Amino acid sequence: MTEPLKDRAVQRTRDLAILGATGSIGCSTLDVVSRHPDEYRVHALTAHTSADELESLCVRHNPRYAVLSGLPEDTALRRRLRGAGCPTELLFGAAGLLQAVEECDAVMAAIVGAAGLAPTLHAAGLGKQVLLANKEALVMAGPVFMRKARDAGAVLLPIDSEHNAVFQCLPTDASGRAKVSEVRRILLTASGGPFRTAPLEKLGAVTPDEACAHPNWSMGRKISVDSATMMNKGLEVIEARWLFDVEPSRIEVVIHPQSIIHSLVDYVDGSVIAQLSNPDMRVPIAHALAYPRRMESGAKPLDLAAIGQLSFEPPDLQRFPCLGLAYAALRAGGTAPAILNAANEVAVDAFLRGRLGYTAIAQVIEEVLGRLEGGEADTLERVLEADRSARACAAQCVENRTERAA
Ligand code: NAD
Ligand code: MG
Repeated sequence: MTEPLKDRAVQRTRDLAILGATGSIGCSTLDVVSRHPDEYRVHALTAHTSADELESLCVRHNPRYAVLSGLPEDTALRRRLRGAGCPTELLFGAAGLLQAVEECDAVMAAIVGAAGLAPTLHAAGLGKQVLLANKEALVMAGPVFMRKARDAGAVLLPIDSEHNAVFQCLPTDASGRAKVSEVRRILLTASGGPFRTAPLEKLGAVTPDEACAHPNWSMGRKISVDSATMMNKGLEVIEARWLFDVEPSRIEVVIHPQSIIHSLVDYVDGSVIAQLSNPDMRVPIAHALAYPRRMESGAKPLDLAAIGQLSFEPPDLQRFPCLGLAYAALRAGGTAPAILNAANEVAVDAFLRGRLGYTAIAQVIEEVLGRLEGGEADTLERVLEADRSARACAAQCVENRTERAA
């Protein structure tokens, strides 16, 4: 492992662009920022197609820019915003996402899925302070992303609760430098999701709403399904590999159903440091926004006596085959994680639309990984090409299954 983050100077956040502002992380970020109006200005807000939600956020937060990346130019909408007395310049299309990150100090990268890669990478390349919620960017293009961030002097602050916890638990010396050579393992915790104890034979019939009913966290639908399958934890293992520059064999997963310990760092002397909080994303968001200071997040204080018990168990790879697939893709290296991610996005989308059974999600991903030959992931073009091929292949696998079932 090398020193990834803590040895970097971090500037205080002033103008903030929020990519994916209408989502779960976007809304939690705006909640935290609203508690500190003297310290943070909302520079840009983006959404894909939810125009009404974005409009009300603009009226409330008055950003310099707002972007609807999935819609064509709409002058009526622009006029409506002006009519509401809002000074915001409204942009349309994916190019607006790049513009949104250009003039700010910090970027909250909270678009879901592979769509987050291009603007997040752009922000990193401009040397911004990047608050990284979008894990798919590092899963797809970890080495390219980290190289670009390093070369541009960007500061990466993890928002994913596990990585934020690891970041908080990493050792530093008297000068604030991380000493990761003294770390034995990183332990990522996982709740086990809504089907941790469900009978295996029942999993084939679970519905999207059941899969999205997470016991502890309230999140967007895609990541909720990923949490149920534990692909989310697999993606997080890959994310940790690049963020902290640690070999896969030194990243372990433990199931902790209460979601109070968000991850742990195991030192060579046997000491283990953990970060705890109630499961509320405003905690890591406030930590990253204020870093290296601390500020109030709105989260409830932790009451350990009321919680009573914290328990742990190993993950069962028969119940959670996606976790095994993610480790395998990470070990295979190159474009395999990008292929895994793309196949997962297609399969989860098909599941959420009622076109694929829950247990077929892992089967489709395995089939795509088996069918496609991986290659080097040393340029963005190669990564995007792998992403495209994997999407086409996964769509075909879903189609074949739908035909067979008909
Ligand atoms: P969400 O579905 O609630 O919100 C997604 C946001 O991205 C919305 O604003 C949406 O308009 C925008 N978006 C969707 N598709 C887009 C596209 N093709 N192009 C541009 N914008 C698009 O998602 P979320 O739960 O807030 O998660 C966001 C990211 O943060 C994901 O990568 C997720 O893995 C990560 N994350 C989320 C949580 C959580 O608690 N929600 C925790 C850790 C990490
Ligand atoms: Mg997480």
